[in-house]
Amino acid sequence: MLTAVKSLWRRLTTSINGTPRFRLDPFEPLSPQPDRELDVLLERLPVDADTLETHLALAELFRKRGQTDRAIRVHETLLESVLEREERNRIRVELAQDYFSAGFLGRAESVLEEMILGDGELYSAQAFRLWLTVLEREHEWGKAIALVRKYGDPGSGNIRLANLYCEQAHLLKSTGDEAGARAALKEARKLSNSARTFIVSAEVETAMGHYHRAIRLLKEALNRDVRRIDVVLPALKSLVRLTGGEAGLRRYLEELYDRHPSHRVLESLLDLVGPNDPKADIWQKELEDIVNSGASFGLMQRWLEQREDIGERARGVLVESLQRLKLRLSDVYQCNHCGFESATMLWFCPQCERWETAYSRHEQRVYKNEIDIAEP
Ligand SMILES: [Zn+2]
Repeated sequence: MLTAVKSLWRRLTTSINGTPRFRLDPFEPLSPQPDRELDVLLERLPVDADTLETHLALAELFRKRGQTDRAIRVHETLLESVLEREERNRIRVELAQDYFSAGFLGRAESVLEEMILGDGELYSAQAFRLWLTVLEREHEWGKAIALVRKYGDPGSGNIRLANLYCEQAHLLKSTGDEAGARAALKEARKLSNSARTFIVSAEVETAMGHYHRAIRLLKEALNRDVRRIDVVLPALKSLVRLTGGEAGLRRYLEELYDRHPSHRVLESLLDLVGPNDPKADIWQKELEDIVNSGASFGLMQRWLEQREDIGERARGVLVESLQRLKLRLSDVYQCNHCGFESATMLWFCPQCERWETAYSRHEQRVYKNEIDIAEP
C-alpha cells in the first residue's frame, strides 16, 4: 500500500520536464518511524482533484490498521477543503465508516443522515448498507425497517427485513405492547416463511396467555426447519406443562425422533416417560451410545460404574448427569455462511452480518444425515 502511495506521489509531484513540483521529497528519512512519513506526506500534499485518491487511500490504510482517529482527521480535513458535492459525499461515507469502526454509532448515523440527496434518494448502496448496519448495532429496529422499506432493493433481503420485524416484536412485547408485536409479526410472516417468525409469534402468544395457539406455532416452526429444535423444545415443554398435554407431547416427540434422531428429542422423551416405561430402557441405551461415541466422558463413566462405595441410586444419577453434561459441552453454534462459532444461539451473525444462518452443530449434523439418507 505504501509503495503504491509513494509512486503516486512521485507521479503527482514530478512535472513533465522531470523537475520536481515540490521542493521536498516526503520520503526523505525525516524520522525513523515510517508512520511519521505518512503524516508528512499528508501535510504537504495539497487537496485537489489530482490528489484526492491519495488522501482517501491513506485514510483507508489508517482505518484498516485500527488507527481510526487518524482516518477521521484526514476525512474531516478533506471535507473542510472546497470540493465538488459528489466528492464530498464520497468522503462522508468514508467518515461514517471511520466513526462506525471507532464505535461512535451516533456520529456515524448523523453523517449518514446527510447522505439523503435533494431528490430524497440515498447517495449510494454503500451508504445504505452501512446505515443499516449502524441501526442494527444500535437495536434501532423501527428506524432500520423504515430505512429498508424506503431504500432497500424491492424483492431482495426479505429475510433481513423479516428479522428486523421479529426484533421489533420482541421489543414491543417486552414493553407490554402485545398488539403492536402481533402487527409486526404479521409483516414478518408476509416476508419470510422461516422458523424464526413462528418462534417469535409463539413467544408473543405465550405472553398473551394463548398457550394452545403458541404450541401450534412452535410445531409449525419445526415443520419449516427441524434444526430449530434447540430453541423450540424448551418452550414447547413448558407450554405443555401449562396445558397438561404430556401424553400428546410424548406422541409428538416419538414421531419427531423417528424423523430427526437428535439427542435433544431423546432427552426430552426420557424426562417425560420415567424409568418404568417399556421404551425407557431402549432410549436410555441409545442415549448412552451417543455419549460413548465420544471420548474421555466414556472413561469417566466406566470409572464411576466400577466404584463400589457409591450406592446404586446415586451412581445412576451421577452417570446420567455426566452424560447430559457431555452432550451440552460438545455442542456449539455455527454460522452456515461464514463458519463463525458461538457458545449460545445467535439469530444475527456478528461476523458476516446475516440473519438466521447459525445452527446448533449437532442438529445440523443430524439434519444432514437425514438428507443424505433421503438422497443417496
Ligand atoms: Zn456468519
